[in-house]
Amino acid sequence: MKKLFVSSFLALMACLAIAQDQPKLIVGIVVDQMRQDYLYRYWDKFGDDGFKRLINEGHLCKNAHFNFVPTHTGNGHATVFTGAQPKNHGIIANNWYERASGEMINCVSDPDQSSIGSEGDLGKVGPHRMLAPTLGDAIRISNQFKGKSIGISFKDRSAVLPIGHSGNAAYFMDYENGNFISSSYYMDELPQWMKAFNKQKHADRLSKDGWDPLLAIEHYTESTADDTPYERPLTAEGRPVFPYDLPALNKEKGYYAFATSPFGNTILRLLADQAITNEDLGQDAFMDLLSISFSTPDFAGHVFGPQSIEVEDVYLRLDIEIARLLTSLDERVGKDEYLLFLTADHAAAPVHSYMKDNKIPAEYFDAKAFQEGMIAHLNAALGEAEWVLSYSNQQVFLNHDHIRTRKMEAKKVMEEIERYALSYRGVAGVLSTKQLQHPLPDDQFSTAANNGWNQLRSGDIVIQYLPGWMQHDGQGTSHGSSYNYDSHVPLIFFGKGIAHGVTLDPVDITQIVPTVCIASSIAFPMLSDREVVSGALKP
Ligand SMILES: [Zn+2]
Repeated sequence: MKKLFVSSFLALMACLAIAQDQPKLIVGIVVDQMRQDYLYRYWDKFGDDGFKRLINEGHLCKNAHFNFVPTHTGNGHATVFTGAQPKNHGIIANNWYERASGEMINCVSDPDQSSIGSEGDLGKVGPHRMLAPTLGDAIRISNQFKGKSIGISFKDRSAVLPIGHSGNAAYFMDYENGNFISSSYYMDELPQWMKAFNKQKHADRLSKDGWDPLLAIEHYTESTADDTPYERPLTAEGRPVFPYDLPALNKEKGYYAFATSPFGNTILRLLADQAITNEDLGQDAFMDLLSISFSTPDFAGHVFGPQSIEVEDVYLRLDIEIARLLTSLDERVGKDEYLLFLTADHAAAPVHSYMKDNKIPAEYFDAKAFQEGMIAHLNAALGEAEWVLSYSNQQVFLNHDHIRTRKMEAKKVMEEIERYALSYRGVAGVLSTKQLQHPLPDDQFSTAANNGWNQLRSGDIVIQYLPGWMQHDGQGTSHGSSYNYDSHVPLIFFGKGIAHGVTLDPVDITQIVPTVCIASSIAFPMLSDREVVSGALKP
């Protein structure tokens, strides 16, 4: 009897030790469109308590990549938080052609939901298209749904997807009025603290003085001049130069101008502080998740490009916001009581016109002209018919009903598309359905295309563009390829259970979730990768 008591007692102590060893809060930070080289390019201008603190005390993976194509925000976030590739979690892009409805759909749109905190349709969203649970779900399952999982971002998809199917609340921006709103998937009404936050009109307050650079402009030696042809002005008549009159721009464009300025990161950090305090995140024995996706760097990158002073300024000020967030977490949750990771959902290409002017091959790919030419080619080769339903996300969706009615083999149509595409300027390769299902192990694009391709949802053929080519004109930039400029992102683990150091070997973004799960002693979400970043874990 005594022996039984002792062994039960020891087992109980072991359980308590594990519970005490768990972080109280997991913080997942995604910096939308952050390239890994920004860490080093802006290093000398960063303060000690933001990115530098994360790296100096945490674990930096210098060679972390997304390994799928196309590289966008929806599938990027779903991959970070499910630990699985798009072929399995089913979020294949931001928007894609849906065969059943014949329409382009948004990855989180959900007509069954309604907006909470807004009169418009922006809140009609939910995670139902994601075919896998996320880290948020794994945390909630681990403590019988007593912990909380909260997601915040400017973008709906970036707030909704990380927290998974059992998330407590996703908040994202209504650009009409600068308020944060939600979906009926989570709640019937915004909580009181969120209403109070909106009432304070932070977007107007932070816009009030306009956007001037943080440092004197001659100090931005890591970037090009302020006024270059490689940036898109925020208004048709304006120039892409400081200072930006944000109140006037907000009036003209809705709060997109504010969202593109560094103060977009400020408001999100303020919201994170409020969520931590009012939702009591990290305050009890039941682990919580706070997912923060900073959208502003993506907006600024699309408009100004990675070489611009504007983008540099966004990162210098984001560094300050990260320092403030860490201070809040230290004070509220406790130093070494939380585990944080920081990464991106994709990186970004250099502006192609800037590359070209500096003799590096890069160019605009006119997808509309490509599609029109493809249709003309098929009509000439096979007879007039609607052979193709959609060309989107570099994928061709064939009209299989039509092909069957014509008693044609899909293979024949694919061969014609391949013949056409391979002679088209800017195309690097074509993968048919069969090749997508059987990737070549040593071919990076073939592997990335396979990982990004979902059998139920993706197109029949994937087109790869040459390096540097993109469907974005020569002002500002975009992303979407599997090339290093789009795949290589920062990855830092920090806090409870994390060993200080650097990992140089390649890390797949799907390794974040299993690493966090091992560090916090919970079960993996059901589709997650199993390989951890072992150097990042304390033994
Ligand atoms: Zn983007």
